[in-house]
Amino acid sequence: MNTIKISGIVKESVVDGPGFRLVIFTQGCPRHCRGCQNPELIPAIGGREMTPEEVLQLIKQNITSLTGGITFSGGDPLMQADALAEILKLLCQEYPKYNIWVYTGYTFEEIKHWPVLQYVDVLVDGPYEENRRDISLAFRGSSNQRLIDVKASLGGEIRYLGIS
Ligand code: SF4
Repeated sequence: MNTIKISGIVKESVVDGPGFRLVIFTQGCPRHCRGCQNPELIPAIGGREMTPEEVLQLIKQNITSLTGGITFSGGDPLMQADALAEILKLLCQEYPKYNIWVYTGYTFEEIKHWPVLQYVDVLVDGPYEENRRDISLAFRGSSNQRLIDVKASLGGEIRYLGIS
């Protein structure tokens, strides 16, 4: 069975996508970007190893009346893509009303064929690049990172979310 390392959860974030969002942080990222906002989540060692069903239960326990969507951040959630796909499949079945955002250091072009993307609404892609830092951007830290409308982009031209 696939498991995933979870390092934390925030109930009502307003910085990881629009509205009040439940945010799940995964442990581990191999990139070591200079200026990474969550350097404590870079080591692969740490966090709590959980099954997809356990993560679903954790999400259920933390949803509030304000929850408008669910975001996966890290670390890089796509370093554990198989387990993430299982979690997202369960989530889409249980909570189809919530849109799903995923932050990753991969670019969309690198991973667009990965099965996990069928469950993702918005991908915030690419590593943080300190020399392209721009605090005016919504929901991302550097100008190379993009808010990609995944479902509209699979199989065609890349479509961006209408948020600047
Ligand atoms: S890809 Fe993201 S999580 Fe990984 S080191 Fe870079 S900024 Fe940090």
